[in-house]
Amino acid sequence: MLRILGHRVTVTRVRRALLSDPMGEADHQRGEIRIVRGLEPSVERATLLHEIVHIVNDHLDLGLSEEQVTGVAQGVFQVLEDNQLGRNRR
Ligand SMILES: [Zn+2]
Repeated sequence: MLRILGHRVTVTRVRRALLSDPMGEADHQRGEIRIVRGLEPSVERATLLHEIVHIVNDHLDLGLSEEQVTGVAQGVFQVLEDNQLGRNRR
C-alpha cells in the first residue's frame, strides 16, 4: 500500500488479461494501481512510477496528456535509478 497525496493506494500485480493497458493502470477514485505480473524489476519500477504520476495527475486535475505523464515519469525514473534514490541503500 502506498500513500499518494495522503490517499491510500493499493498496488496489485495481475495477469495481463485483466488489464486494459498492457503494462499497468491506475484508478485514483478507487485507490488502486494494477501492474502486470512478471515484468523485469526495472520495468516494474518504471511502470509503478508511471501509474503514480497518473494518480497525482487525476487527483490534482492537472490535465496532463498520456505523453506528458510518460515524460514526467520517465524523467523522474531515470534520476531515481541513476542516483539510486529509489531503492533502499545498504
Ligand atoms: Zn499511462
